[in-house]
Amino acid sequence: MSITAQQITFDQQHIWHPYSSMINPPAMLPVESASGVRLTLADGRELIDGMASWWSVIHGYNHPELNAAAHQQIDRMAHVMFGGLTHQPAIDLSQQLVALTPEPLDKVFIADSGSVAVEVAIKMAIQYWHARGQGQKHRLLTILNGYHGDTFGAMSVCDPVNGMHEIFTEVLPRQLFAPAPQTRFEEDWNPDDIVPLAQLLAQHHHEIAALILEPIVQGAGGMRIYHPEYLKQARALCDQYNVLLIADEIATGFGRTGKLFACEHADITPDILCLGKALTGGYMTLAATLTTSHIGETISAGGAGCFMHGPTFMGNPLACAVAATSLKLLHSTDWQSNVQRIEAGLKAGLAAARLLDSVADVRCLGAIGVIEMKAPVDNRDLQPLLVERGLWVRPFGKLVYVMPPYVMSDEDLQQLTTGMVSALRTYRG
Ligand SMILES: *Cc1c(COP(=O)(O)O)cnc(C)c1O
Repeated sequence: MSITAQQITFDQQHIWHPYSSMINPPAMLPVESASGVRLTLADGRELIDGMASWWSVIHGYNHPELNAAAHQQIDRMAHVMFGGLTHQPAIDLSQQLVALTPEPLDKVFIADSGSVAVEVAIKMAIQYWHARGQGQKHRLLTILNGYHGDTFGAMSVCDPVNGMHEIFTEVLPRQLFAPAPQTRFEEDWNPDDIVPLAQLLAQHHHEIAALILEPIVQGAGGMRIYHPEYLKQARALCDQYNVLLIADEIATGFGRTGKLFACEHADITPDILCLGKALTGGYMTLAATLTTSHIGETISAGGAGCFMHGPTFMGNPLACAVAATSLKLLHSTDWQSNVQRIEAGLKAGLAAARLLDSVADVRCLGAIGVIEMKAPVDNRDLQPLLVERGLWVRPFGKLVYVMPPYVMSDEDLQQLTTGMVSALRTYRG
């Protein structure tokens, strides 16, 4: 049942891929199967996957325990509506989420995707202030270089330029933007860094529902890694000015930065937490928004009497069963040592990129490695050089970055980093 040339052509002519063009799109590489950290292409070539399918496949592909969880659940029921009904996979998953996250976060909204989890977080914040008779607090404050998803509410808090949604500026709610934190993770904290955020809060707190940000690592908006003190002070400012803090840990959650949640680097707890990407170990789409009893109860005591959101496929049992198993797997493995090991491997392996004239910066945290180029790369030229070296890495703009599955061996990691540097050395020159 191998893929045919006609099917590839159909794909090219009729199917949108993420951020793709319908004019002369590049041919997509057909994947036949995936196992561990390797993708097998239709022509039999194997690629080491540096992307973990966009942060999500933390345990590797085709994992026997996750497969078994999916098989067991599908034979019982693949789906059932969540309105008026409940089921064990959703309860099992939610119990684990409440246990894993900091104490006050104990109300769980199970969402279909990261973007939806962000929409839900924004709606919670707005409904909270509305229920308290402060409906004027309905704007969001965020920091530049952020990325929070592709739906309208989420787009409104993405970086207005980098965030890929510039075209929609006119139709989006107008939010408030502070400059991105400048002090890097490993640098000495510069107290001036927080001043613009403090000023915006002082000026606008009466109209702000929440500050939303990606803690410590900003993902698709620039792969920037900033100082924990920024997050600590942002939390304190939110308390001072009566503004909720939404932590979007959709990319950073579940160990990626070396801590289970990136907020732990600053020892803070958000009022609302968004999780996604690695939640099901990369098996299917699922996300969650957690909040406190205080917020959950305040919303519910408001005029509406409930939280106003409930998608058709909410709490899908199949996705919940796999997610619950993925969390148990995370708990039962020494993910922390693996992430530390990968951090060391990325730091050592990518250091050579610093010597290239085309490279502006190299930075790593946890199982995240980033090479920032001086100019945006052309994937049509760079991607084949990576594939030739047996690697799946998907550069974006100036960023050539990886976040491998936690199970990647030292040998594969070395092949990945060496291959990246070698591809960049060959690229245009
Ligand atoms: C990927 C991502 C989202 C959006 O999640 P989707 O599942 O793609 O909708 C939101 N926030 C952050 C930080 C992300 O990395």
